[in-house]
Amino acid sequence: MTARRKLIAANWKMNGSRAANAAWLTEFRAGRWSCDVAVCAPFVYLPQLRDGLAGLAAEPGAQNLAAETPGAFTGEVAGEMLIDVGCKWVIVGHSERRALYGETNDLVAVKAARAFAVGLKPIVCVGETLAEREAGGTLEVVGAQMDAVLKRCSVVQLAQAALAYEPVWAIGTGRTATPAQAQEVHAAIRAQLARADASAAGAVRILYGGSVKPGNAKELFAQPDIDGGLIGGASLVAADFLAICQAA
Ligand code: PEP
Repeated sequence: MTARRKLIAANWKMNGSRAANAAWLTEFRAGRWSCDVAVCAPFVYLPQLRDGLAGLAAEPGAQNLAAETPGAFTGEVAGEMLIDVGCKWVIVGHSERRALYGETNDLVAVKAARAFAVGLKPIVCVGETLAEREAGGTLEVVGAQMDAVLKRCSVVQLAQAALAYEPVWAIGTGRTATPAQAQEVHAAIRAQLARADASAAGAVRILYGGSVKPGNAKELFAQPDIDGGLIGGASLVAADFLAICQAA
């Protein structure tokens, strides 16, 4: 099987200020880690993040991009612009964007394809709601989300980027999927990737996201198909984020 380097990605969501980010970066710069790291910040802070991460083994990322190429789309930010300010990663299809901003499976896939087209590495998020899990629909829901992505992006492309399994009921709730629950879904996603491209599926990193903290990270990352984490709340505290990076 292809060796996969662990990836830990911070999702600051709509948090931060120039002063708070500077303090975070000072603390983070003093840390040590040996996995790949991405820090995904609000658009306006990307230049500050790019400069603050310079020289570190950590890359800046955004949390969304437009589905369109540059033009008359007031308020949108194109992938080309993210590249222009030194951004390397972009979160696509986070459950908050699906639930609050109406992003459909196909729109998420279009955005992932746009990211690849401009040279950004998308972190494509999938995951089920609590109602879907309780109805026994987890693998079907995640499978449909993945089907949409695979219609527009190849497994070879995804191997240059990442997927993130984020059960919606575990995001920001303090309720984490058990390592076995997460591993079951990660293995199903990898099996689906393998049906599309058996030779590349083993190279795709599948992150887990949902209330990952320093105290539960190691056990989650020890699962055979969990290749790192997408970290929300705990990424806002530099010491906690560093501890999670070290757990990887
Ligand atoms: C997220 O928003 O991607 C996330 C995983 O959040 P949290 O870690 O706070 O659950």
